[in-house]
Amino acid sequence: MNKNLEISALPGDGIGVEIYLEAKKILNWIDNKSKYSLNISEMSVGGDSIDKYDEPLTSETLQKLLVSDAILLGAVGGPKWEKLSYDKRPERGLLKIRKELDLFANFRPAIVFNSLVSASTLKPEIIRELDIMIIRELTGGIYFGEPRGIKKIDENNYEGFNTLIYKSEEIRRIARVAFETAKTRNKKLCSIDKANVLESTELWRNTVIEISKDYPEVKLEHMYVDNASMQLVRNPKQFDVIVTTNMFGDIISDCASMLTGSLGMLPSASIGVNKQGKRSAMYEPVHGSAPDISGKSIANPLAMILSLSMMFKYSFDDELIANLINKSVNLVLDKGYRTKDIFSEGCKLLSTSEMGDAVLEELKNEKL
Ligand code: NAD
Repeated sequence: MNKNLEISALPGDGIGVEIYLEAKKILNWIDNKSKYSLNISEMSVGGDSIDKYDEPLTSETLQKLLVSDAILLGAVGGPKWEKLSYDKRPERGLLKIRKELDLFANFRPAIVFNSLVSASTLKPEIIRELDIMIIRELTGGIYFGEPRGIKKIDENNYEGFNTLIYKSEEIRRIARVAFETAKTRNKKLCSIDKANVLESTELWRNTVIEISKDYPEVKLEHMYVDNASMQLVRNPKQFDVIVTTNMFGDIISDCASMLTGSLGMLPSASIGVNKQGKRSAMYEPVHGSAPDISGKSIANPLAMILSLSMMFKYSFDDELIANLINKSVNLVLDKGYRTKDIFSEGCKLLSTSEMGDAVLEELKNEKL
């Protein structure tokens, strides 16, 4: 019997639109070949929504997202909208989705594919077989704290301010997610903070320790964010699961992306519970709208395609389809197919859509 799924698609801006088209090819194939009947609703977000409706996320779109089974997002933002006030900017649409759907747990795996070991700027022995899961708190901390703003002090001077705030319960729930994840992997968790100078992250550390009592089988360590950034480049394989705050996670995960060779390889899943008590989830590449390469057909669609794999694993508990997508990406890379960002000598250079087609061809060899 067919299983009906409502998928909301938000291509967004810049290369978001280009890479979404490649994920859509895969979704259409799954729709035709599997037990799923996928109802895909494409909607606007970010700059695209500002151009059409004068706001980065309309309430109609938000209502639809609240009832969908999963959301797939490309990327938002770009120079065209940079002069707008903060509350009108494309990124506010994305932050509003995270907040309204309470997507508090952001999973960012950093995995080095065997055939891409040479695409990293680090030595092969440092990154070969690297497999880290970074769990970033996504709905609290300095990106949401109030008060915030820019205030005039006198004729020539302004004051810009933000608030870094965490409540115990926000920390407890992300810590539990991290310990549960560590339990299914190598039972090692590193919590990253700046407890020596920031009180909010002193509370973070104390609360993670409190939750650790329920997980005696997981080995917990703590690291200051400055040291962690250095360790991530020096010896990344010392980490397995990392849990950290919203802002530190944002920065640390971009750093981890370069271990894997390119931002274009990193998928993510953001999971939470919406106001109706329904589990909600959004899947998106870690990267942004990349205005510098937008429209050139050179964007790497693999982070977006791997985000689809995470969707089937985390939202639909379908490891089979998730693994098939991962396997197809692996095979394409093993054959030496590369987009420009991961290209090296001796490989075959593909455009964005050729890369999507190559993954689809591998999938077509598989039985569902
Ligand atoms: P970016 O991630 O868009 O790009 C950083 C660099 O990585 C660029 O050189 C880009 O060409 C490259 N890159 C990124 N994705 C790639 C891909 N799939 N294939 C090949 N190369 C890729 O970050 P940025 O330049 O700092 O930001 C650009 C815009 O994106 C800004 O408006 C920013 O606010 C927005 N942004 C959005 C998100 C999101 O939608 N989740 C995340 C980060 C940044």
